[in-house]
Amino acid sequence: MKLGILGGGQLARMLALAGYPLGVEFVVLDPSAEACATHVCEHLLGDYHDTALLAELAERADVVTYEFENVPAEVAEFLAAHTVVHPAPKALAVAQDRLIEKNFLRDLGIPTPSYAAVDSLAELEQLMPEIGWPAILKSRTQGYDGKGQSVLRSTADLAAAWELLQGVPAIVEGFVDFTREISIIAVRNVAGEVVFYPVSENLHRGGILRVSECRMDDPMQQLAQDYVARLVTALDYVGVLALELFEVDGQLVANEFAPRVHNSGHWTIEGAETSQFENHVRAVLGLPLGSTAPVGHAAMVNFIGGVPTTERLLKVADSHVHLYAKASRKGRKVAHVTVRANSIDGLTAAVSELARLADQVDDS
Ligand code: AMP
Repeated sequence: MKLGILGGGQLARMLALAGYPLGVEFVVLDPSAEACATHVCEHLLGDYHDTALLAELAERADVVTYEFENVPAEVAEFLAAHTVVHPAPKALAVAQDRLIEKNFLRDLGIPTPSYAAVDSLAELEQLMPEIGWPAILKSRTQGYDGKGQSVLRSTADLAAAWELLQGVPAIVEGFVDFTREISIIAVRNVAGEVVFYPVSENLHRGGILRVSECRMDDPMQQLAQDYVARLVTALDYVGVLALELFEVDGQLVANEFAPRVHNSGHWTIEGAETSQFENHVRAVLGLPLGSTAPVGHAAMVNFIGGVPTTERLLKVADSHVHLYAKASRKGRKVAHVTVRANSIDGLTAAVSELARLADQVDDS
């Protein structure tokens, strides 16, 4: 079987690395000759809007999936008309627009921060008493890793924040004073079977994920599972989906979801019986899903903007290195290291050592 992937970055690369032992082959479509998945996949080089290339991808692959959610709707529709696409374009349409996404979550009874659509500075000024301070102004589309976002602390911040958006459609959200950020990854197959990984506890800085830790027996597991189950069922979803949540006063408030394999699930490569990457491949190809049970204590540290030598990383006890073969560039994720340890103490020591190494090379 051959799986086609829109996008040839590290997520596609890790999907391929997980799928080869199952006898699956891979072809990616990516506009960059240097896309790092192309080291391990066939490569269709060109634009995502090139219908001849999209038709070729559909022709070569049995099923097409994607590694990023900003796939243009017409591209997903074109592919869906020519081959099997998982997850279905509907999930993309919802995840691409923060307003549609929040409405969708709210309609499923999943709590969200207070929010409202904003189309002008005057409207923003009018909405603030209702939203409350502080708040965050975000572009509705094309935003990731905190890009296109400003924190609003007083009326003095409004004009500059609005200016920064340059007229793109926006959403204003109440700032959630959370105790921690977690995410839950669910996998649903064509038959409607759903499995869940243990929640990840996530540490962000500057809007970018730095560390994710697998939380076994977390008190929020059941509630997180309940919310993500509603989501994958309502979307008739096939594949891996990650729901990001804030914990506040013992409750969970949804931030956003990603209709794809997710950075907060990278620890599953060594830390779970079946990784999120293998389970995504299994789900979209109609294969039985694998166990999501954790194997030891696991966490992941991202390397952003640069990475120390492999030798240095491997000196950290219980470390498993994943280099993405991407050129270092400011703010770019170039590697992650998973730690899988027998004890929490061992895990904590290794994670703090790796986080220290990550900070030394981090330029974001
Ligand atoms: P996002 O791009 O929406 O995932 O936001 C990136 C990060 O910004 C999140 O992981 C949070 O750390 C922070 N953030 C986003 N929205 C909010 C919010 N409404 N309240 C508090 N923090 C937020």
